[in-house]
Amino acid sequence: DEVGLDYLEIRDLTVQFDGFTAVDAVDLTLIQGRVHFLIGPNGAGKTTLVDAVTGLVPATGQARYRNQNLLAMRSHRIVRAGIGRTFQTATVFEQLSVLQNLDIAGGVHRSPFALLRARRGVPSYVADALETVGLADLRDKPAGVLAHGQKQWLEIGMLLVQDAKVMLLDEPVAGMSAEEREETGALLQRIGKERTIVVIEHDMDFVRSFADVVTVLHAGKVLTEGTVAEIQASPEVQEIYLGR
Ligand code: ADP
Repeated sequence: DEVGLDYLEIRDLTVQFDGFTAVDAVDLTLIQGRVHFLIGPNGAGKTTLVDAVTGLVPATGQARYRNQNLLAMRSHRIVRAGIGRTFQTATVFEQLSVLQNLDIAGGVHRSPFALLRARRGVPSYVADALETVGLADLRDKPAGVLAHGQKQWLEIGMLLVQDAKVMLLDEPVAGMSAEEREETGALLQRIGKERTIVVIEHDMDFVRSFADVVTVLHAGKVLTEGTVAEIQASPEVQEIYLGR
């Protein structure tokens, strides 16, 4: 029993597009303190599952978090309930500084005048996020000049200032150097202790290094779930990846 831990419980989650079932009766329990990876071939339904949980596509079933069914909520309410996500392409405000990006993200829970206040000093939750994602030295640079990896870290920092307890990250290390991947993995493990982290990922080396739990989706369904070793030993997983 996981008493005291936060968790997101997905039950019978189904998403249909014009009669095509992209996510098919998925059950998934995502528990705080673990880095969960969601893997599976292209078209398996990984992004659609995350879209459903964050209110971007309609879905049936349940996604229960702290006694609320996220599937019945609008996306801005879902963000306020503590669910945050990133997209494959970083969505930072390129002309604004790193600090301003974080301050705007913090505005989700705080006053709309946060940007004005930021000129008078950096709130501690923003300073903490800058430190955690390793961008303190770049705080006054326009986000547009950041390297690809740094933009992904800024997005994760934006989720931290939003106070996201559940973070759904869509291929955060795609396009990163080996060194940036290592740093990202270490960052996820650090922030994952107090949060529920779910990562969609294709890079199996990254999954092997940093996964606590792996769920394999295939054709909209959960094919199997377990540790990396369990997943790799699964004949069904070998079959879908090797195409035999
Ligand atoms: P993955 O993230 O695992 O690669 P997706 O969730 O992107 O898979 O897609 C799952 C399936 O749903 C795919 O067959 C895709 O073509 C389909 N799909 C995704 N979004 C839409 C949409 N808006 N309309 C119709 N079909 C979609």
